[in-house]
Amino acid sequence: MDFNYSPEDEAFRAEFRAWLENNRQYATAAREPLADESDGEWDARIRWHRKLNEGGWIGLSWPREYGGRGATLLQSIIYEEELERAGTAVPSAGFGISLLGPTLIHWGTEEQKRRHLPKILTAEEIWCQGYSEPNSGSDLASVQTRAVEEGDYFVVNGSKIWTSSAHHADWIFLLARTDPEAPKHKGISYLLVDMKTPGITVRPLVQMTGARGFNQVFFEDVRVPKQKIVGEKNQGWQVAITTLMFERSGGHDRGLMRQVRALTALAKRMARNGRSAWDDTSVRQRIAQFVMEVEAIKYTHFRQLTRQLKGLPPGPEGSMMKLCATELGLKIATFAMELLGPYSQFEHGAAFAIDHGAWSQRMLAARGPTIYAGTNQVQHNIIGERVLGLPKG
Ligand SMILES: Cc1cc2nc3c(=O)[nH]c(=O)nc-3n(C[C@H](O)[C@H](O)[C@H](O)COP(=O)(O)OP(=O)(O)OC[C@H]3O[C@@H](n4cnc5c(N)ncnc54)[C@H](O)[C@@H]3O)c2cc1C
Repeated sequence: MDFNYSPEDEAFRAEFRAWLENNRQYATAAREPLADESDGEWDARIRWHRKLNEGGWIGLSWPREYGGRGATLLQSIIYEEELERAGTAVPSAGFGISLLGPTLIHWGTEEQKRRHLPKILTAEEIWCQGYSEPNSGSDLASVQTRAVEEGDYFVVNGSKIWTSSAHHADWIFLLARTDPEAPKHKGISYLLVDMKTPGITVRPLVQMTGARGFNQVFFEDVRVPKQKIVGEKNQGWQVAITTLMFERSGGHDRGLMRQVRALTALAKRMARNGRSAWDDTSVRQRIAQFVMEVEAIKYTHFRQLTRQLKGLPPGPEGSMMKLCATELGLKIATFAMELLGPYSQFEHGAAFAIDHGAWSQRMLAARGPTIYAGTNQVQHNIIGERVLGLPKG
């Protein structure tokens, strides 16, 4: 592992840092995960996304021919580090940039790429992900939403659930069963569906944080032109896996050190036995333990990076990072509850709540990452079977 960046990478960092300095006034602050959207927040996020795009700072790793920057893996990491350093949000306007765009670049027809990629970059079209269904989550290949061929169309019936940002989305990429007789992985197709098509209903669901980021989406005789299939009919599982690889490829450790710093500040403010909680060695030891875990995750990330840079297939680091980072997020938030004592009972935004109740919100929100992108129990299975070589349960 070489910890030094090349002169080109350092130049890239300097260029982006300078751009961020000059455009600070347009930036949105790093947002709390699964927090409810405040008034005007979505519009501010779109403005920030567009500003970054004007500067050529969106779709960083996408090839230049599709409007990206053709950045290397290391430069993508530097990009995130600089956003984190500046305290600004990693741009997030649906799942176009992170999931669908890279999937289309790999699997899409030239026409699909030319039609959809530019509008993802400009955030003119927002995408959501229609994978999970009421009875299909971890066992994703069991999806039951049907797509039946009728002339030049697929007619889609069924429902998707936990669909983040569907209420903002112009388009959804979804998995539908096109051959119910085939083995479950072999009868699925991957479709791009315009959310304005007649027969689509979006019903909001409220998360336990109180946020309204989720939805259930219903499809009733929704006609989707056949050219909107990605990959071959019944071969959508391979396309779906590509999207999942992009979803699982990182970001779970984002913001952990920022949380530990906030926890330290909290410990210094909270009283314990007539002194500050920070004066208690057991509190400092717990926080030191969190710092060590953040560092261990960081170096695991570097090991993953080293493998990728050498062109090796993804190793077990991805599952380990997902598991450890999301568990750590939960431990940090839970420890904040201990420090807050009775104050932990105030809800987010309640009068008298310390830090406006941010920690109780974080404690509830920290469950989400342990569930999405493959639940942590599923990660345990992967590590057990593929890393430790344990027999399948
Ligand atoms: C914040 C958030 C955002 C999300 N956004 C989206 C989105 O935009 N689009 C989308 O399609 N989905 C989204 N999801 C859904 C997410 O992908 C599913 O919740 C996840 O795949 C788990 O599926 P499930 O909820 O059906 O749980 P289930 O699969 O029913 O699992 C229930 C429990 O059983 C355990 N379990 C299941 N199978 C096994 C096994 N083989 N071994 C051991 N334990 C097992 C699980 O770990 C879990 O504890 C989101 C979820 C969250 C929390």
